[in-house]
Amino acid sequence: MNFQKSEELYKRANKVLVGGVNSPVRAFKAVGGYPFFVASGNGAYITDVDGNRFIDYVLSWGPLILGHAHPDVVAAIQEALKRGSSFGIPTEAEILLAEKIRRHFPSIEKLRLVNSGTEAAMSAIRLARGYTGRNLVVKIEGCYHGHVDALLVKAGSGLTTFGVPTSPGIPTEHARSTLTIPYNDLAAAQMLVESAPKDIACFILEPVPGNMGVVLPQPNYLQELRALTEKHGILLIFDEVMSGFRVSLGGAQQRYGVVPDITILGKVIGGGLPVGAYGGRAPIMDMLAPVGPVYQAGTLSGNPLATAAGIATISILESPGVFESIEARMTTLFRELEGIVRKTGIPVYTTQSGTMGCMFFHDGPVRNYTDAVESDTARYASFFWKMLEAGVYLAPSQFEAMFMSLCHTELEIEKTLEASEKAFAELS
Ligand SMILES: *Cc1c(COP(=O)(O)O)cnc(C)c1O
Repeated sequence: MNFQKSEELYKRANKVLVGGVNSPVRAFKAVGGYPFFVASGNGAYITDVDGNRFIDYVLSWGPLILGHAHPDVVAAIQEALKRGSSFGIPTEAEILLAEKIRRHFPSIEKLRLVNSGTEAAMSAIRLARGYTGRNLVVKIEGCYHGHVDALLVKAGSGLTTFGVPTSPGIPTEHARSTLTIPYNDLAAAQMLVESAPKDIACFILEPVPGNMGVVLPQPNYLQELRALTEKHGILLIFDEVMSGFRVSLGGAQQRYGVVPDITILGKVIGGGLPVGAYGGRAPIMDMLAPVGPVYQAGTLSGNPLATAAGIATISILESPGVFESIEARMTTLFRELEGIVRKTGIPVYTTQSGTMGCMFFHDGPVRNYTDAVESDTARYASFFWKMLEAGVYLAPSQFEAMFMSLCHTELEIEKTLEASEKAFAELS
C-alpha cells in the first residue's frame, strides 16, 4: 500500500497545524508512523488521498452509526442549509431533536443543546455544583469527558489522594476538587463518599467506558452507584456521549436499567456534525439560565445543520429492526474474532456492548483502567498496521473503541475476519 500523498500532506500539515492534526490521537502516535489523509467516505468505507480504500471501524470516533455520507443525512443537511445555516433564534428542529432524545432517554425531562461533548460535560458539572451548592467532583479513572480542566485528571496513588493534573495548564485548585476512583470498585466509591458526604456535588462517569478501550460494568455496579449517590444527595452524571444510541438506543442507562440525574450526549445525536447535549430532571435543568442562575450559552448551539443531521440519524436508527441489525452484526463480528483469537493462542480479551467493542491485547479480564493499561500496546500497534495494509482501519490506539455501522454488511465482516485471521497468524 502506498501512502505517498498522505506523507506529503502530513509534512505540509506539520508546518501550519500543531503536530499536523487538530486532535491529538489523529497523529497515530500510539501506533507509530504518520496518519493517512482522507479524500472521501461512503457507507462502510473511506478512501484516502492515495486511493487506498479501507473498511472503517472508527467512524469519526463513533458518530457515524449509519456509515459515511448516508443519503438521508446528506439530504437533511442540504435541505436545512438552503434555508440558512444559523440564526441564533429558536427553530422547530431544536424541539424535534430534543423530543427524539427524550423519547429514548426517559431520565431526561429537559435538555440543553451545545456544540461538543466537552462543552456538555463542562456545563453539566457546573450545573451539578450550582444545584447542590457543593464543590467536589468524583470521576472514574480512565473515563474521558472531553478536555474539561476539572476532568482531565487521572488517579493519584490512593483513592482519597487529591487528583494530579495530567496536563500542564490546569490550575491545581481545579485538580484538587476532582477526586478519582477506579471503575467497577464500589468499595472505593463508598469510602470516598463517607470521607466527604456533604462536599461531593456529583459522580461523573461513562456508564460503559469507551475511552480506555471498552470496559463493561460488573453486575449491579451501576445500580449500587445510583443507590449510594442518591442516599447522600450527590448527583449521578452519566456521560453517554459515546454509549448513547450505541450501547442501546437509550444508552447504557436503558441497557442496565439505571436512572442518572444528568445525562451527557454527543456523537451519534449530531449525525457527524458538531453537537453535544446535557439533560436531566426538570428541577435540576431549571437551574440553568434563563430560568435559573447557572449561566451557559452558545452562539451556534442547536444550529439547524447539526439538528437536521441528528434528527435524520435518529429517525433511521429508531425504525424497526435497524439498531438490532447493527448490534447483531457487531455480535457476529466479535464472536468470530474470539474464535480466531482462541486458535492463535495470543492473549486477547474482547469486550462488546451493543454496537461498540474492543480487543484488548491483554491476558485475562479488563475491569478497569489499571487492567487496561497492562495491555500489550506494541502488539496492538503491529496488529493495527497489518489490518490497515489489508484494508481495515481500526482505531490508531489500543485504548479506543471499535464501532459498527448500518453499512457494514456480511461482505465487510467477512473481509475483516479474513484480514484478522492473517494478521493474528503473523503476530503469533
Ligand atoms: C468523545 C467524548 C467526549 C468529548 O466529546 P467532543 O465532542 O469530542 O468534545 C466526552 N465524553 C465521552 C464519553 C466521549 O466519548
